[in-house]
Amino acid sequence: MRLDKFVSNMGFGSRKEVKGLLKKGAIAVNGKPVKDSSFHVDEKNDEVTLFGEKIVYREFIYLMMHKPQGVISATEDNRDRTVIDLLEDEYRHFEPFPVGRLDKDTEGLLLITNDGKLTHELLSPKKEVPKMYFAHIEGVVTEDDSKRFAQGVTLDDGYFTKPGQLRILKSDEISEIELTITEGKFHQVKRMFEAVGKKVIYLKRMSMGPLKLDESLQLGEYRELTEEEIAML
Ligand code: URA
Repeated sequence: MRLDKFVSNMGFGSRKEVKGLLKKGAIAVNGKPVKDSSFHVDEKNDEVTLFGEKIVYREFIYLMMHKPQGVISATEDNRDRTVIDLLEDEYRHFEPFPVGRLDKDTEGLLLITNDGKLTHELLSPKKEVPKMYFAHIEGVVTEDDSKRFAQGVTLDDGYFTKPGQLRILKSDEISEIELTITEGKFHQVKRMFEAVGKKVIYLKRMSMGPLKLDESLQLGEYRELTEEEIAML
């Protein structure tokens, strides 16, 4: 990788700012100052320093976001802000993307990374990674709905879902529930409730596999996963 790209990608300024640092002789590779921004470094084996401090190379980033409503789970959108727009520059250099999608009006846990292999594993239908959602439902949710979800329901396009585990927290005109599903079909939770004649009016993802939403994150906030969280995935 070019030296200027390496330093910039690790979060130490724009390519232009890094060029300035190079000119000043602030950057060294294996102990020797380098001024040429097109100098090539082996990012895994060369030691790059900035003002004598080693720049630690990282290939992947793993962020947990508490997604707010009104933003799109995509890397780009012509009309709306995306979850990537909420990230600071120091992370955007890594070209991260969301792991799967939450609807524009869904809140909650969203993993953002640039690790394609992990993303594939978490999203692969074969892995059946459980996702738990909390929701407010218009209509009285009953044990009969739990039984139907436990068997699978037929969605509007004829797709018969895998079993979902429904836990009723409050059964009223506006019910509160937790639903765990192991698939990720388009609008799946909303369509599963439609299949039993009810409407989701608020939806929040609480967990994905072993990863739980850190409730200390305010809507729109994010943090890096801890080493333990990464190891669990
Ligand atoms: N199911 C939905 O209907 N919407 C989401 O955003 C996630 C799951």
